[in-house]
Amino acid sequence: MKIHNFSAGPAILPASVMEASARAAVDFNGMGLSILEISHRTKDFEAVMAEAESLVRELSGAGDDYAVLFLGGGASTQFFMAPMNLLNDEDTACYVDSGVWATKAIKEAKNFGKIEVLASSKDRNYNYIPKDYAVAPQARYLHLTSNNTIYGTEIHEWPETDAPIVSDMSSDMFSRPIDIERFGLIYAGAQKNLGPAGVTLVIVRKDLLGHTTRKLPAMLDYRIHADNGSMYNTPPVFPIYTLMLTLRWIKEQGGLEAMALHNVQKAQLLYNEIDTNPCFTGTAVEEDRSLMNVCFVPVNPEHEAPFMEACKAAGISGVKGHRSVGGFRASIYNAMPQESVQVLVDVMRDFAKKVG
Ligand SMILES: *Cc1c(COP(=O)(O)O)cnc(C)c1O
Repeated sequence: MKIHNFSAGPAILPASVMEASARAAVDFNGMGLSILEISHRTKDFEAVMAEAESLVRELSGAGDDYAVLFLGGGASTQFFMAPMNLLNDEDTACYVDSGVWATKAIKEAKNFGKIEVLASSKDRNYNYIPKDYAVAPQARYLHLTSNNTIYGTEIHEWPETDAPIVSDMSSDMFSRPIDIERFGLIYAGAQKNLGPAGVTLVIVRKDLLGHTTRKLPAMLDYRIHADNGSMYNTPPVFPIYTLMLTLRWIKEQGGLEAMALHNVQKAQLLYNEIDTNPCFTGTAVEEDRSLMNVCFVPVNPEHEAPFMEACKAAGISGVKGHRSVGGFRASIYNAMPQESVQVLVDVMRDFAKKVG
C-alpha cells in the first residue's frame, strides 16, 4: 500500500530525490565509492557545494551581497548564532512571538542584546499572526518566524519596516517566491522542506556582519564560514547533497512560482474540506492559515481516535497534531503530491458520512 506521508518534520522528500540520494550512498557519480566515504575536498563534492549554492542564489535571488551558508546545529543554533553575529550587548533587536519556535529564538537572543518583543499571539494559543506593532527605529533587525509549524499559521504579508528582517523560514523555505531585498538573514533547518535533518541553510547580507565587537568562536562566526565556502570544517556532506537534489527538483518543477501555485492548490483543497465537513474545524484564523501545515480538530473530541484509525487504514501517516494544539496536522510541504491530499480529503468525507 502507498503511504501518504504528512509528517511535520523530518518530512516528505520528492521520490526522485530519495532514489538519487540512495544511489549516491552506494556509488557516487560512478566513482565506485559512496558519497559517505569520500573527502569533502574531492572535486566531485566541491561541485555539489557549488551547485547547491548556485541553486540557492538562483531560487532566492540572493546576489553577491549575500553569503549562502550550509551549517550544522539545526535552526535552533541560529536562534543564538544570529544575535551573536548581528548585535552588540547594547544594541536593540525586535522580535514577534508567534509560537514556540519564536519564543525559543527570543530566549536565546536575550543573551546577546536588548530584545524588544513587539507583539505576541500567545493569548489565543498562537492561532494568528500578530500584526499591529511598530518596530523601534534603532532596531538592528526585526525577527519573524515565517511559518509556525506547530499552529499552522504563516505570514502572508511582510510588515513594512526599514529594519532588515531576520526570518526563521524552517518550515516554508522555497515554498513560494522570496523578496530577498527585505531580508538581512534567512535561516532554515533543512528537514521540513529542503532535505534531510543535519544541514541548515543560512542566507545573510554581508554588510550586517563585522559590526559586533563580541569575540566569536570560529564555528559560530558567519564570516569564517563564508570565507571558507562552508568548508571551514567538514560540512554535513550527505544532507547537503540531498538538499542540492531537492533544489534541482524545485527548479525542474518551474521554480518558486510553480511551487507556490501547487502549494496553494493543495492547501485550498484541504481547507475547503475542513470548512465544509461538519466533523472538523480549522484551528488557525483564516487570513493567517499556513500553506504548509494544516491544523484541524474534530468537532466531537470522541472522533479523534476513530478518525486516526481511518487515516491509518488509508495509508495516511503523520497527521497527529502537536500536543499543544491537539487534533490533526497535515503537513503538505513542496514534495507532497496533490493526490495524497485528495486521499486525506476522501477519508474525511467518508468519515463524515459514516458518523453523520
Ligand atoms: C522545526 C523548526 C525549528 C527547529 O529546527 P531544528 O533544526 O530542530 O533546530 C525551528 N523553527 C521552525 C519554524 C521549525 O519548524
